[in-house]
Amino acid sequence: MVDINIDQFEIYEYNSVIIGSGAAGLNCALHLVLEGIPSDKIAIVTDNLGGGTSFNAGSDKQTYYKLSIYGDQADSPYELAKDLCAGGAMHGDIALIEATNSIREFFHLVQLGVPFPYDEYGGFVGYKTDNDPKQRATSIGPFTSQKMGDCLLNAVNEKNIPIFDKYYAMKILVDEAAKEPEAIGLICINYDELSNDKNIDTLLSSLRIFKTRNVIIATGGPAILYKNSVYPKSQKGTTSLAIEAGCKLQNLTESQFGLASTRFRWNVSGSYQQVIPRYFSLDNSNTEREFLKFVFPSFTELSRATFLKGYQWPFNSTLIEGFGSSLIDLAVYHETVVLHRKVFLDYTKNPESYDFDHLHPIAKEYLSNSDAIGDYPINRLRKLNEQAIKVYSKQGIDIASEPLEVAVCNQHLNGGISCDGWWESNTINHLFVIGEINGSHGVHRPGGAALNAGQVGGLRAALKIAHSNYANQSINDEKFRDTTKRELFDIKTKWTTLLENIPSVNEKILTINDLLNQIQNRMSKYATIIRPLKGLESEILTIQNQLNSITKVIKLEKNTEIIDYLRVKDSLLTHFFFLKAILDYHFSNGRSRGSYLILREKLLDSLSEMYILPPGYLKDYKFIHNNLDLSKKIQTLQWKDKQVLIKWENTRDIPSDFGWFENVWKDFLNRKAFKPN
Ligand SMILES: Cc1cc2nc3c(=O)[nH]c(=O)nc-3n(C[C@H](O)[C@H](O)[C@H](O)COP(=O)(O)OP(=O)(O)OC[C@H]3O[C@@H](n4cnc5c(N)ncnc54)[C@H](O)[C@@H]3O)c2cc1C
Repeated sequence: MVDINIDQFEIYEYNSVIIGSGAAGLNCALHLVLEGIPSDKIAIVTDNLGGGTSFNAGSDKQTYYKLSIYGDQADSPYELAKDLCAGGAMHGDIALIEATNSIREFFHLVQLGVPFPYDEYGGFVGYKTDNDPKQRATSIGPFTSQKMGDCLLNAVNEKNIPIFDKYYAMKILVDEAAKEPEAIGLICINYDELSNDKNIDTLLSSLRIFKTRNVIIATGGPAILYKNSVYPKSQKGTTSLAIEAGCKLQNLTESQFGLASTRFRWNVSGSYQQVIPRYFSLDNSNTEREFLKFVFPSFTELSRATFLKGYQWPFNSTLIEGFGSSLIDLAVYHETVVLHRKVFLDYTKNPESYDFDHLHPIAKEYLSNSDAIGDYPINRLRKLNEQAIKVYSKQGIDIASEPLEVAVCNQHLNGGISCDGWWESNTINHLFVIGEINGSHGVHRPGGAALNAGQVGGLRAALKIAHSNYANQSINDEKFRDTTKRELFDIKTKWTTLLENIPSVNEKILTINDLLNQIQNRMSKYATIIRPLKGLESEILTIQNQLNSITKVIKLEKNTEIIDYLRVKDSLLTHFFFLKAILDYHFSNGRSRGSYLILREKLLDSLSEMYILPPGYLKDYKFIHNNLDLSKKIQTLQWKDKQVLIKWENTRDIPSDFGWFENVWKDFLNRKAFKPN
């Protein structure tokens, strides 16, 4: 029988604790101070300061999306909200909030020193990004989010906001007995306290407990789930924190995938495609083939699709037919995942049938206008964008002399935790979820909308906390101690089993890596750009068994392995949710959309189902298209009594009841927006 003495743990008290130090988390901390919460009442806990996506990702021209404020271009928050919703499965009020606050957050970043380009009149010029009908996008180059992170971190340090680095948040403390469940704290592991011995008491002594009125989860996307990934290696994510707390999740079927190099994780978008590189694959015995020539009917079509891939980087299920640019991703996926070949982009040679005269006019005109004509892709790239070559040479990769290995990689999760307009969980009060882990986006989104949503979310959470009774409400100490004690007891029981090396009778012992491999293989098979129904249901049963027996099948050799164990446990539960969402999407007769193609054996007459048939040697794929429009619905999932509850909710419209100044002013002075109805 295990017992737990809560007094052996030091308890840190704050008004608000933010988990994660990416662009979203840091920005929220700053806004809390700006809105009046003293900096010593705020803390950031992070497993890796300087790690995560914001500080380490980038792309050809990393984009920030906002309302257009340039020249004679007419734009409005309402127009922008419509374009955010255009992808489908997005709530209109959330879109309007992201649109309305985009300028406030953009100028906050400008103020902090992010050098967004402006002209002689001070106008912040924009360009068109994917899914953007105007020219709302801006960028400072390949490393926009990294610069945002640097500027935000400097400001956080100037405000002396405490940062607990190398702290892994493992449990949100929720008072379930309150009228409505509410967050009251969290439990973390301090990495520095983990020892090499194997002992439950020393392991428990690495725990740190936070008692806090508000918890803000800003842990980023669930990068750990995918083998082929363009997320930086330092980003893993911890979506299960929110799942276990009882949050509702939404749109988990909607992720973003695209072509990226794998040795150095980098999107091969923009100029990397516009110079028409040669694609080839290698089998185990290094036999080479230019597989795209078996898919496209002519070099002209191939050059058109390759060129367009530069702009149309994310995989898009509507760009398969008509020799669209996403046919390239599909062919690369088939070569790598199905045929187990390696795929490379070669800048030293032209595609086999390359002929400048037969280059598609769209590519020929662009390369001519850009003075980027050259004998080989590398010469064209050097003229078009020298920087693109340097990005790789800085990583020790010389694309002028060696081919670049690529794959179809996971890049972003559009879905995530479902929250209200203050980015507060719909199901747990005082629990806010911001940044990529918040699932505000729909099926597809304009490029750059992720960074905007992350900043707006932090602002909204801070406003609610600072201007409602969340700023100074206290937590009942007895309830806190009871909840904490219960959770600590549960942790101690499970960890004791993990440390015992008694082989279980019925279960095969797995290493943490074995289990992670199984998880990532399942995600590759069922949850990337191709989503087959066949086999998925039985795979989910296997996962269910693994969830029930994880403490018995994994054994720890030393205390330091606890973090890897918690990460794999997080992945197990999170991918369970993803695959349940996909299975339900199949059972709801969902069609191919956004970043994925649906594979089912039978066609349903009642929905006029038909196949999308790719050309060439990909013709055996039969992807489903039908007339069922789910774009005004959002699939939600919640963990209740160890079951996943799945519902489809209607999307909310974009509000159009815009206020009258005198009334809005009065309400603002009364802080009406922050009071319960
Ligand atoms: C290659 C690439 C290119 C991209 N390009 C664009 C673009 O052009 N435009 C755009 O809008 N978006 C883009 N994105 C997406 C965008 O960069 C991310 O969505 C955004 O940076 C996420 O910010 P965040 O603050 O939510 O999370 P992150 O920056 O990922 O930060 C998460 C933080 O949480 C911490 N953490 C996680 N789990 C725990 C835990 N259990 N305990 C403690 N700490 C924890 C991590 O260490 C990290 O500090 C791109 C993404 C990639 C991968």
